[in-house]
Amino acid sequence: MATNRTFTMIKPDATGAGHTGKIIDRIIANGFSIKAMKWTKLSLADAQAFYGVHAERPFFGELTEYMSSGPIVAAILEKENAVSDFRELIGATNPADAKPGTIRADFAESIAANAVHGSDSDENAAIEGSFHFSEREWA
Ligand code: ATP
Ligand code: MG
Repeated sequence: MATNRTFTMIKPDATGAGHTGKIIDRIIANGFSIKAMKWTKLSLADAQAFYGVHAERPFFGELTEYMSSGPIVAAILEKENAVSDFRELIGATNPADAKPGTIRADFAESIAANAVHGSDSDENAAIEGSFHFSEREWA
C-alpha cells in the first residue's frame, strides 16, 4: 500500500556533535513536514530489536552498540514520495560515497556513524514509526 510517510532517526554522532538543529532545518527546507518527533535513547536491546533485520550482518554488534551509545531524535515525516525522497536527501550509507549537499555528506563521520537513518520502504516506515510512537502522538 502506498503511503507518504517515512521514519528517521538522527543518530548519536550527530546529536553529540550538535548537528540536530541543522539537520531538522534541512529536512523541513526540503519539504518534509514533521508528524511526530522525540529526543530519546535506545537501550542495547532496543537497538537489537530495531535493527533485527541486520542480525546476521558482520557489523551488527558495532551498529547496535553505537546506536545505544547516546541520544537520538526519532521522527515520522510526511511528503509525497517520502521514503525515496528522504533516501535521496540523506545520501549513500557511506558518507564518502554520498553526493555533495546530502545530509550524510555534510554531517556524517563514517559508514557506521552516518548521522541519520531513513526507512527503506513504506512497509518498514510504518513498522519503524510504530516502534517509537503510538498513533495519539502524531500531529
Ligand atoms: P539506515 O538503515 O540507517 O538508514 P542504510 O539503509 O543506508 O542506513 P543499511 O544497509 O540499512 O544502510 O545499514 C544500516 C546501518 O548499519 C547503516 O546506516 C550504518 O550505520 C551501519 N552499517 C552499514 N554498513 C556498515 C559497515 N560496513 N560497517 C559498519 N556499520 C555499517
Ligand atoms: Mg537501512
